[in-house]
Amino acid sequence: MPARVAELERRGALGAVFIQPGERIHEGICTPVWGSPDTSGLGREPRIPVVSVNRPDGNELVERLGTATIETELDTAWRRIPVVVAELRGRSEPERFVLLHGHLDSWHVGVGDNATGDATLLEVARVLGAARDSLERSVRIAWWSGHSHGRYAGSAWYAAEHALDIEQNCVVHVNCDSPGCRDATVYEDVYWMAETEDFAKRCVRDFTGLEARGRQPLRAGDISFNNLGVSTFFMLSSTMPDSLRRERGLYAVGGCGGNIEWHTEADTLEIADRDNLLRDMRLYAGAVHRAAAEDRYPLDFRATVRQLRTVFEFHAHELDKLVDLGRARSLLDDVETATKRFHDSPRNASMLEIGRPLIRVLYAREGPYRQDPALEVPLLPDFARAAAAVGHAPDGAVRMEALRARNRLESALLAVSRILSHERSVSRT
Ligand SMILES: [Zn+2]
Repeated sequence: MPARVAELERRGALGAVFIQPGERIHEGICTPVWGSPDTSGLGREPRIPVVSVNRPDGNELVERLGTATIETELDTAWRRIPVVVAELRGRSEPERFVLLHGHLDSWHVGVGDNATGDATLLEVARVLGAARDSLERSVRIAWWSGHSHGRYAGSAWYAAEHALDIEQNCVVHVNCDSPGCRDATVYEDVYWMAETEDFAKRCVRDFTGLEARGRQPLRAGDISFNNLGVSTFFMLSSTMPDSLRRERGLYAVGGCGGNIEWHTEADTLEIADRDNLLRDMRLYAGAVHRAAAEDRYPLDFRATVRQLRTVFEFHAHELDKLVDLGRARSLLDDVETATKRFHDSPRNASMLEIGRPLIRVLYAREGPYRQDPALEVPLLPDFARAAAAVGHAPDGAVRMEALRARNRLESALLAVSRILSHERSVSRT
């Protein structure tokens, strides 16, 4: 939606009326600014009024096609909002932590999105609190507000306020949004980064008895830590099976386990399901406990480097003729070999060090201490942008874009390569 609004504004629209797919109006946000704006974010806020109507009203409007008046009220300000953070200290490396988080604010009553998630965080805090002697590292649990009305303002604030601590010490972060909803019996839409995929799948299998399918996180939810280079898994957990959704003639929505009441006044108590919630609570508690208690961090960067190579080669197909990608390719070979060797007996501290540059180059365009806007950010975004511009922008501009993308990738790979060769000399002595 923010991309559509920006595009309409650019093309001179005076206002926008969005027609929803059905009878219901799902609330949404149309600013691309991630969290509280900084000075560059100020200029990106939408300036036109935007409203949503349901399908029947929309159809009528289209039929009439006359003039329409839009009246909206806009209230923006910096406000103090609650951010609740609890911490259970780990035994052997208390400064390192697993961050489990979800949003406390909701649209309307918001039972499925996100009271069930908030209850899950509370239950995980209780269960892990009772098992705190088994935690090697700390567990931080955060309930953000400002998710819906501040575009992830709570988590973005935390990322800015605690940037260096997160960058140095956060092992992995785990988002919890809309678990335990009615008819949510499958794990087919789970987010994970490549390095956490195996771990996340294993957790779903072990704690629920089900198989999981998923994909890399989209630029959404409170995933506010990509620029800092922190790995993540989960966001949505269980959802309604696609087959059931189709059978009922429902369209896809972004929360409430796929229940159509998402982001409407109808997201009330009957959207939650006791058994599903209990199952999802077990999953979150189990996964966070493992991440904080097992000897080894839940990360495998061999998978990340494989993914990086696939995406790189996909774009290189377009860009090879514009810039020399030979060195990037041979650095990728080196890093692939070195990561394989490293992961035979990986050291936790080095895992975090190699993860930061890899995640940044794969997931973010902006620098480490900034936030990319809430717009689609494809994997390896600098390369994606250069490749998408071929044939649409002057060759000189595409070449410059590709050169900068290449330099950034080479620099990230060199950093990883340096850490791993140091690692090797340490392990040999
Ligand atoms: Zn949510």
